[in-house]
Amino acid sequence: MPVPSHAQIVVIGGGIIGCSTAYHLARDHKADVVLVEQGKLTCGSTWHAAGLVGQLRSAASITQVLKYSVDLYERLAAETGLETGWKMTGCLRLARNEDRWTEFRRLATTAKSFGMDMHLLSPGEVKAMWPLMQVDDLVGATFLPTDGQASPSDITQSLAKGARMHGVRIMEGVQVTGFAMDGNRITHVKTGDGAIACDKVVNCAGQWARQVGAMAGVTVPLQPVKHQYIITEAIEGLASDVATVRDPDRFTYFKEEVGGLVMGGYEQNPIAWTTGDVPDDFQFALLDDDWDHFEQHMDHAIARVPALANAGVKQMINGPESFTPDGDFILGAAPQCANMFVGAGFNAFGIAAGGGAGWALARWVIEGEAHMDLWVVDIRRFSKLHEDRNWVCQRTLEAYGKHYTVGFPHEEFLSGRPSIVSPLYDRLKAHGAVFGSKLGWERPNWFAPPGMEASDVPSMGRANWFAPVGEEHRAVRESVGIFDQSSFAKFELIGKDAAAALEYICANNVAKPSGRLTYTQLLNSRGGIECDLTVARLRDDLFYIVTGTGFRIHDSAWIRDHIRPGLDAVLTDVSEQYGTLSLMGPRARDVLAGVTDADISNSAFPFGHVRVIDIAGQEVRALRVTYVGELGWELHVPLGATGDVFEALMQAGARHAIRPVGYRALESLRLEKGYRAWGSDITPNDSPFEAGLGWAVKLKSDVDFIGRAAAETAAKSPLKKKLAGFTVDDPQVVLLGRETIMRNGEFAGYLTSGGFGYTIGKPVGYGYVCNAEGVTDDYLRQASYELVVATEPVPATIHLEPLHDPAAIRVKA
Ligand SMILES: Cc1cc2nc3c(=O)[nH]c(=O)nc-3n(C[C@H](O)[C@H](O)[C@H](O)COP(=O)(O)OP(=O)(O)OC[C@H]3O[C@@H](n4cnc5c(N)ncnc54)[C@H](O)[C@@H]3O)c2cc1C
Repeated sequence: MPVPSHAQIVVIGGGIIGCSTAYHLARDHKADVVLVEQGKLTCGSTWHAAGLVGQLRSAASITQVLKYSVDLYERLAAETGLETGWKMTGCLRLARNEDRWTEFRRLATTAKSFGMDMHLLSPGEVKAMWPLMQVDDLVGATFLPTDGQASPSDITQSLAKGARMHGVRIMEGVQVTGFAMDGNRITHVKTGDGAIACDKVVNCAGQWARQVGAMAGVTVPLQPVKHQYIITEAIEGLASDVATVRDPDRFTYFKEEVGGLVMGGYEQNPIAWTTGDVPDDFQFALLDDDWDHFEQHMDHAIARVPALANAGVKQMINGPESFTPDGDFILGAAPQCANMFVGAGFNAFGIAAGGGAGWALARWVIEGEAHMDLWVVDIRRFSKLHEDRNWVCQRTLEAYGKHYTVGFPHEEFLSGRPSIVSPLYDRLKAHGAVFGSKLGWERPNWFAPPGMEASDVPSMGRANWFAPVGEEHRAVRESVGIFDQSSFAKFELIGKDAAAALEYICANNVAKPSGRLTYTQLLNSRGGIECDLTVARLRDDLFYIVTGTGFRIHDSAWIRDHIRPGLDAVLTDVSEQYGTLSLMGPRARDVLAGVTDADISNSAFPFGHVRVIDIAGQEVRALRVTYVGELGWELHVPLGATGDVFEALMQAGARHAIRPVGYRALESLRLEKGYRAWGSDITPNDSPFEAGLGWAVKLKSDVDFIGRAAAETAAKSPLKKKLAGFTVDDPQVVLLGRETIMRNGEFAGYLTSGGFGYTIGKPVGYGYVCNAEGVTDDYLRQASYELVVATEPVPATIHLEPLHDPAAIRVKA
């Protein structure tokens, strides 16, 4: 059959993700969709998936996506007449040691925070539910009753049928061979059977998505990895509705299938499949059985379910699946191409995610922006680094190997490092720096004092860096510290219409006179916070924009995409041109005065201003801002001069005991000051008013800006949630974020971030307190609070003002 000459949207790939996306595009948005599949539906990774469907993830929105899948799989057959094989068996997760048990108690609290009821079970209760299981080595288990299992092929066929019922044209045996482009916009999808003119393309090509993306200049950083499981003959005594099992301390999982067991696992020594292109004819195909590699799972699985020792193995499945460097899937608008969207890299939870991912992606394709906070899966979280296939492969294998290891707080990846270093790397190392990595950059997390080993020893309680981070924190509060923040993303917007362009993009008034700088949020059309950043006006036609390291591609893509046509304003990424040294603390002015002749008095150089000053013979962009709640400057230095400026500052600061300070102290300082972190405290789900940032929205002006209409409505309506600070008195309590907030004994929300404030000597958290009838400051104050921490309720105090500010309003619980 010839391909149609035109379609509004072409979906590439007939696995579960492509079929779900096409179904939702047609059902929810009445879109005109053609789906092309080079082989037959499901022939890629989908047909051989094991079919476990879990829902709980560490991000609330992704959990919501997975919950959506479950709802869909439950009711899809009623619409299409094709069953999905959905069985709500529940899922058991087994803990064999205390660290795992702590992780699980935190997980159960996260589940509660996200509206799910996860039970903690004793080994005896596990045995009663799953009599064939050996439980002697267990500390306990969690049970999530609403998890289950389904048949991957059946779901996909049911989705495909639904898609056809809503008008999607599904073309099997049609291979995409390239794209006709006009600049960075796809005009036609080229196939072996002719070209299809289209407005938008959705790349759901599974492990082929990398090479399909590359045809349009799009980076899809995924790596196929071999993943094996076995299917056994029937096992006597195994109930058909028995819960699925994850046994992470033994790296294995189980699911009932036709009276036998599916058993697979995540090896510590995974094997990448191919680092070249995935062959197009790899359809309904498997890799050779690798019993040597699988043996590690057999030993563990027999120890858990002894009956397996005598069960015949019907089949081994060795299938490649695409994994990603951070273990999360890849969704959204590709930053390199104006009209390609991607849904790929599902890390062996594509069946669990498929229904919801297709639903969310379809809305993204139609509306041009995500309808909820999907940052953790957003394709814009990657950078140029991810074009390096070797790096992606190494990091992906590490992430795969960690799939079932205990997740210690603040644990760092180790592979592919160091990748990008600042000019200060060696100097900071000599000061005892222990580095973390962010988007490939090595950044000092903390500094080990003399005599202490400079490396992280993670812990479920207080880790080895707790005390040294406290010393760094105190240096900034009491004297002065210097942070290497060279990894910051930095852009310049140049052109005679630069101010007009930014005024439309930014919620705050940034078109101030030259020399001013402004903190601003960038709102989406729903009035949610899409980015937050600092904008410094250097000249009438030149703005310098600074944002967080991880948000480089996301924020620059958002700005570029929203410069209105016809305006003379060009955005350039200058991140690598400037090193950034943040000089912070009450003695910061004394130190700066020792290295520059510029007048840096408060009257000459007030807060919220930018000046180009001379330090160590270098022109430095000095921004008077702070993220720690102390006097300070961000010094943006020509990259090659970063070392000289650092040395000059260290010398001038010696009499104030200046010291380098790391990111963990920065986090503690900002928590006490109540600065909101994008991605956790403020996200596209939150409005500035809910976040307590309404002061930075220019509603009093008559300037049109993105999200203005929504912001106006929000400003007039009662708040249904509001961000507040919390402390607990017991300094040993560990807050990490996602702990449940109880108000007067009732569920009210959860923490979006958590940590420790060394000045106040207490654990600190932030979170939204929710109430459908409205949240006022009185409502917040006139109540008692508890935080549920790893299932234990802990009395808490709410704070509506910064915590280390003596004027803070404190309300005792
Ligand atoms: C052994 C194993 C066990 C698993 N178990 C589970 C599990 O228990 N639970 C779970 O949730 N997930 C599981 N998964 C993961 C799951 O199978 C995948 O995440 C999911 O199937 C991915 O779906 P997809 O649509 O992205 O990819 P695919 O199913 O691979 O679909 C992509 C399609 O794109 C087509 N295509 C590629 N290039 C082109 C082109 N140029 N033109 C046209 N078409 C093209 C391919 O032919 C393919 O059909 C498992 C995976 C493996 C390997």
